[in-house]
Amino acid sequence: MSLAVYRRVTQLAFILLIFLMPALDIFRYDAASRELILFGHVWGLGLKDGFYAEHGLSASSHVALRFFLKAILPWLFVLALFPLFGFLAGRFFCGWLCPEGALFELSDWLTVKIIGRRSLYRSRPNDPEPGAVNRIVYISLAVMCAVVIPVAGGIALTGYFVAPKTILRQMATGDLTFGVKAGIIGVSIYMLTTSIFVRHALCRYVCAAGLMQMLFGWVSPVSLRVRMDISRAEECTNCKGCDRACFMNVTPRRNRRDISCVNCGACIEACHRELNGRGLFHFSSGEGPAHASGEGETADACCSRPCG
Ligand code: SF4
Ligand code: SF4
Repeated sequence: MSLAVYRRVTQLAFILLIFLMPALDIFRYDAASRELILFGHVWGLGLKDGFYAEHGLSASSHVALRFFLKAILPWLFVLALFPLFGFLAGRFFCGWLCPEGALFELSDWLTVKIIGRRSLYRSRPNDPEPGAVNRIVYISLAVMCAVVIPVAGGIALTGYFVAPKTILRQMATGDLTFGVKAGIIGVSIYMLTTSIFVRHALCRYVCAAGLMQMLFGWVSPVSLRVRMDISRAEECTNCKGCDRACFMNVTPRRNRRDISCVNCGACIEACHRELNGRGLFHFSSGEGPAHASGEGETADACCSRPCG
């Protein structure tokens, strides 16, 4: 199976997980009862009723300890996940799991098919070839996606605050509460506008999870990255397949650690195709002993072909 297929499978599996977590009570906050549900159980601070009536030092220490153990510590653990991901795997999460990234890639693909370039605003030298397409088919597909995906996303995310069964019941009767309507409409508008007008700029400059992975991946001596085999640089045919494959607008042949790279592997596959299975790129952890000379070099030093 190709990397692209593996990647679609992991992206779809993560989207499924996002939908299932509230539906199966794995994780959600019930706004009605003001309870956090975790794996089917209410996650509370474990304080006995009327604890606030006790003012002694022992009672206060108990409350502080419970608060630290049951609220602050788990939250710190969650916050530490993205720096840890970044330190070990760079922006792998963005390229292989993030639902929003997957949506932006779908938008790119439809835009290429409909107007012949990735961006709505301007052409870029690395725009992929759209091939022979029936635009009407892709326009219809885009309209369908623009309606179905944001609404589905809105229902899924609202399910983290209102029990999914309640949302479905309200939808079946057509009697939606203000909270459910606001949740679905708000998320839908956000998804629609970002996927049409913003896309990967949001990943690069706004997303906190992406920025944390970016930062920790950048400073990590061991994080996963894509490298070019400089010793075989003369085999490059300058087909520009690697540049065109990159939806993050990285120029992989520069062989620099680029904070926008999401380790998707599309450039690896493009080069494999061009060079009949002997592509010049590979995943590497850290500096990599065999090909470390590429770090920080200029484009000309990495490859005899101009890649800018
Ligand atoms: S440089 Fe390669 S691995 Fe990185 S984002 Fe671009 S195509 Fe994906
Ligand atoms: S590195 Fe590979 S994919 Fe990129 S231009 Fe050269 S031959 Fe083509």
